[in-house]
Amino acid sequence: MLTVGADADGVEVSLRSGLLACPGCGGPLSPWGFARARSLRTPEGRIWLRPRRSVCAGCGRTHVLLPLVGLLRRADSAAVIGAGLAGRAAGLGHRRIATGLGVAASTVRGWLRRFADRAEWIRAAFTVLTRDLDSDPPPLPACGSVFADAVAAVRAAAAAAGLRWPFVVAVSVWEFAGAVTGGRLLSPSSPAVLTNTTRPWPGHR
Ligand SMILES: [Zn+2]
Repeated sequence: MLTVGADADGVEVSLRSGLLACPGCGGPLSPWGFARARSLRTPEGRIWLRPRRSVCAGCGRTHVLLPLVGLLRRADSAAVIGAGLAGRAAGLGHRRIATGLGVAASTVRGWLRRFADRAEWIRAAFTVLTRDLDSDPPPLPACGSVFADAVAAVRAAAAAAGLRWPFVVAVSVWEFAGAVTGGRLLSPSSPAVLTNTTRPWPGHR
């Protein structure tokens, strides 16, 4: 799974120009149809996405290009889910977060549980990523819980990426978090945070 910008025209141009790289072998990707359409709740309302499928000229594998706005198998955008995680880190309960976001309480509870289960891994991985991106990052304050520490580490890594690549600033913190984990921030398996100090996330050559 590769993450790409939400701008479908931009993705199409990058794909047709061979600017997107295979996450497996680094070969150039070219268009290969579309994945199933899905809808996503965003802070601006519901949007429909039809993710592009691509094929690698090097190894022949196909890859779905997950738009940056989404996380794998989640009906809410990274920005909506991230707002919920930030609310929890600030001490809010799941019902209050759910009311504020207009999302079912059980859905919010699912995000919070999964993030809590993985909080130590997320905290550690994003702390390493921050140090890779910024040799002298500002110290992270202890936030009083592993959950809040993990949220702070994600924010710090996004800030460090923004210093290194100014265009990353245009991407929200949680879209960044989704991008560097290949959309798997809240997936059961723990992928390595895909870090590479020559590009902000995999797929951009
Ligand atoms: Zn390949």
